[in-house]
Amino acid sequence: MTGKLRIESNEFSYSDEKFADIQLLRYRVEGFEFLSLRQKTLIYHLSEAALAGRDILYDQNGARNLALRRLLEALYMALKSDGVAGVEGAEVREREAFAEYMKRFWFSHGPHHHYACMKFLPGCSREWMEDALRRYGISYDRPLVDYIFDAAADACRCNQRDGEDLLLTSSNNYYADGITQREAEDFYARQRAALTTPPECPPQIGLNSRLERGDDGTLRENVCRIGGLYGAAIRRIVRHLEDALPYAESDSQRQVIRLLIDFYTTGSLLTFDEYSIAWLEDTESQVDFVNGFTETYGDPLGFKGSWESIVNFRDEEATRRTRILADNAQWFEDHSPIDARFRKSVCRGISAKVIQAAIIAGDLYPSTAIGINLPNSDWVRRDHGSKSVTIGNFTDAYNCASQGSGMLEEFVIDDVTRQMIRTYGPVGDNLHTDLHECLGHGSGQLLPGVSADALKAHASTIEEARADLFALYYMGSGKLVELGLLPDAEAYKSQYYTYLMNGALTQLVRISRGATIEEAHMRNRALIAHWVLEHATEREAEIVNIGNKTYLRVNDYAGLQRLFGRLLAEVQRIRSEGDYEAARNLVETYGVAIDDALHAEVLDRYRRLNLRPYKGFINPSYHAVRNAEGGITDVTVSYTEAFDEQCLRYSREYSTL
Ligand code: ZN
Repeated sequence: MTGKLRIESNEFSYSDEKFADIQLLRYRVEGFEFLSLRQKTLIYHLSEAALAGRDILYDQNGARNLALRRLLEALYMALKSDGVAGVEGAEVREREAFAEYMKRFWFSHGPHHHYACMKFLPGCSREWMEDALRRYGISYDRPLVDYIFDAAADACRCNQRDGEDLLLTSSNNYYADGITQREAEDFYARQRAALTTPPECPPQIGLNSRLERGDDGTLRENVCRIGGLYGAAIRRIVRHLEDALPYAESDSQRQVIRLLIDFYTTGSLLTFDEYSIAWLEDTESQVDFVNGFTETYGDPLGFKGSWESIVNFRDEEATRRTRILADNAQWFEDHSPIDARFRKSVCRGISAKVIQAAIIAGDLYPSTAIGINLPNSDWVRRDHGSKSVTIGNFTDAYNCASQGSGMLEEFVIDDVTRQMIRTYGPVGDNLHTDLHECLGHGSGQLLPGVSADALKAHASTIEEARADLFALYYMGSGKLVELGLLPDAEAYKSQYYTYLMNGALTQLVRISRGATIEEAHMRNRALIAHWVLEHATEREAEIVNIGNKTYLRVNDYAGLQRLFGRLLAEVQRIRSEGDYEAARNLVETYGVAIDDALHAEVLDRYRRLNLRPYKGFINPSYHAVRNAEGGITDVTVSYTEAFDEQCLRYSREYSTL
């Protein structure tokens, strides 16, 4: 695929602007124009429902974030409409630094880094900001400006450091100020003990609420629902879901939307499980969507779901690939190198598809995942399976943007390896994602009586490692060539090389000097790479130094496959038995610490490439063409909006809280 395409006379480029450590990309919604009017109308209403929830995530990320956003946007708009005529010198630099802060704030839904979770400060001076606010007659609270410039006030949004009180040291807004980790854990332990649902089917307690303290000092939940927490945003989401109902593609999809409306109306987590099951059972509809409190990465205790939405439709051709995997799910389960007790005897319900994302919102915007595997409820997954998607148009955009970035030239050890990665990289990356999402997360089982959250703060890292190891082990097994998913017996090597290089070296570019690895996916990659390198006693892979630069050298790819299998067996055991101590040991030994000299070297080599480690996506904008009666006669899509224009429009049109 080429980097530039012409569409509807708009010049389309995958790559858009860069600021701080971020590069914004655009994604094309391939095939939207070939959908029926009914499908386009459905997508239109669902995309409105997606944008209607936007304010929720701002508030979840921090109690002051919405007030901050309003203040910063007022100044940003005043400066923008004032123009740059006559502006020079230090004033230019202050304005540029402020604009960069604004964009980072939008990107992260608050003043904390979207990935590293640490607070970032504006590059402009406090004097300049206050002066500018006064100049444009924007009234403001001094404490709010104090807060912006105070690195110590809410230093970390989501602290995962072992041994500290994870709530008192995290600034997210899922728990009211002053509630300790112990209090929250006790609260949810009592709630779990009081459940009246069958013990094998527990709801995801705490998922859609904020834990607060009443006047009498006791803790209670403020539940997200119409009439409750975030009621105004949720009411608007529901209105758009009601608009979408008549355009549902099937009765089962109509039922999905109705149950979601019920869930938003009552806040009942039992309804949420019903909704999840109905959503799983609707495999026929081409258009699909997620809208709700979903992933728990933003809560150090793993209870609270951050709000997100994605609307998408199935890419029929690309889906063929993942269907082959799903059809062979039982074979993969039976041949997995894990203890037989941890294997699923019947592997079912894995519906695999490639989708085209049509819009992303909340915690999926602008930084997003390239694959999704839902629902997260363990018992629903066990009894009803899971839906896996690879987001084809995001993968394409990433691949196009990374061509010619210079990373391979700088970090890959030699020409032969580079050539191999150029040839097999894209097919290997796609297949790894498919294996991870379609089979990896869905494989294996917990032993009876093991609680799904036994691994506590390390659960996410271990789960991601399990899915990645499953993918890595099978990449090199020969089965994928037999199934026609890899072109030949050499192809998997490219994935092995790039995976280990990333885990041991290149992912360090996303972390600032002196910090440790915090995010679950990054911990998982570091864990796998460092464990494999340490256990490569036959020099299957090693870290070497050539001309004062550090490289990964792989001597025995088949040997690596055996090592991935060994670690998969151990990680599966940890998860199946709920062995918290072993999980902690593995994560703390291999997944957290960074060698400082190596980190400095990698950052230096990376800086010379002038690239940005984090990517995000600008949404397309949809326009409903209406007739005199207000009925929709067509929906058009355009790709021209700049990131700041998009964020300002969203604030203008979708502010609810
Ligand atoms: Zn995953």
